[in-house]
Amino acid sequence: MSTQTQIIHSIPVDELTGSISVPIYQTSTFVQEAPGVHKGYDYARSNNPTRKVLEDVIAKLENGSNGYAFASGLAAIDAVVKLLSSGDEIVAVDDIYGGAFRLFTHIYQKFGINVTYVDATDHENVANAITSKTKLIWLESPTNPTLKISDIRKISEIAKANKVLLCVDNTFASPVSQKPIDLGADIVVHSATKYLGGHSDLISGLVVTATPELGEKIKFIQNASGAILAPFDSWLVIRGIETLDLRVERHSRNAQAIAEYLSTEEIIENIYYPGLTSHVNHAVAVKQQKYFGGIISFDLKIDNKELATKIVTSTKYFKLAESLGGVKSLCCLPCEMTHKSIPQEKRYAAGVTDSLIRISVGLEDADDLIADLRQAFAVAKNAFKPSKEALITI
Ligand SMILES: *Cc1c(COP(=O)(O)O)cnc(C)c1O
Repeated sequence: MSTQTQIIHSIPVDELTGSISVPIYQTSTFVQEAPGVHKGYDYARSNNPTRKVLEDVIAKLENGSNGYAFASGLAAIDAVVKLLSSGDEIVAVDDIYGGAFRLFTHIYQKFGINVTYVDATDHENVANAITSKTKLIWLESPTNPTLKISDIRKISEIAKANKVLLCVDNTFASPVSQKPIDLGADIVVHSATKYLGGHSDLISGLVVTATPELGEKIKFIQNASGAILAPFDSWLVIRGIETLDLRVERHSRNAQAIAEYLSTEEIIENIYYPGLTSHVNHAVAVKQQKYFGGIISFDLKIDNKELATKIVTSTKYFKLAESLGGVKSLCCLPCEMTHKSIPQEKRYAAGVTDSLIRISVGLEDADDLIADLRQAFAVAKNAFKPSKEALITI
């Protein structure tokens, strides 16, 4: 069965009424026949039928055993970290999502959970960072914004050999492109705000576990901490998932065409896109991803913030905004937006220069998007009068 057929038919028709669309159970509680005797639902924080459909669909889509839906991607990440205890350690990818870094550093460090960051594109770095206290390896692949790829299979072998859990944030790839549990991961998390929702109209997070035992633990945390996804937002994510494969295939096809065009643009210094053979981790991406995704980052030969700003404010279809994975194309300047809180030196070490631009390629026509970028580069070049400082960096 093709992925698209499988996805569409993993979403059940309502047994009670035959409703082809999943009903939205907008309720806080459920009437019981006798104390403790009910239809499997007692209170909507613990369980809600609309949310349950989403949780079962994502578990199936990731080839896991259990799925859980949260109010945001960060709430999903938070639930996974709560599996740990004070004194435990995490080994995490250095190019980690900024919100996860903030959570680890400013919340969990004070509860005695420490994190070691490594360049996970070399799996030996992960193996070398594991200590007797390490309980969790945290990966993202591809990463944000320089699209680094780590070998999930190899790192899962390291995790198993050390009896450490492996969690993969699969937000950028999406489950139609990459299935970390098939590659040996124990847990997958998503910001469903991005490709799963797909329409830039909600905030949501998901956790999928490889085993029912881990699932029970996440379920306990979900109920105990309470950051659940509301019924209407659960329904929106289900609706997004119905077209996931179609969308990610098109996002990726558009992005490939744009990345190839960008390779010919003289204004550009580096392009980061795993679908280009020039990408440093292209071979690993080919091995573990079906599609290369809709995110491209690039920086400029003249590493100047004003020039980059002129580009991101001159595009017509690429709207200047944080976030990604929606039908409308977006662009962002990480140094002033998503990565502003990172000190410049650290930012440059991670490849996030002042002129690095990240684009989330939407579902518009690729030729229109290429024309849009071409005209924005032309406008920026004409308007750019380098300051003395800028001339020094040329
Ligand atoms: C956006 C994002 C998150 C956080 O998700 P929210 O839904 O914004 O809380 C986590 N990981 C990655 C890779 C993301 O892109």
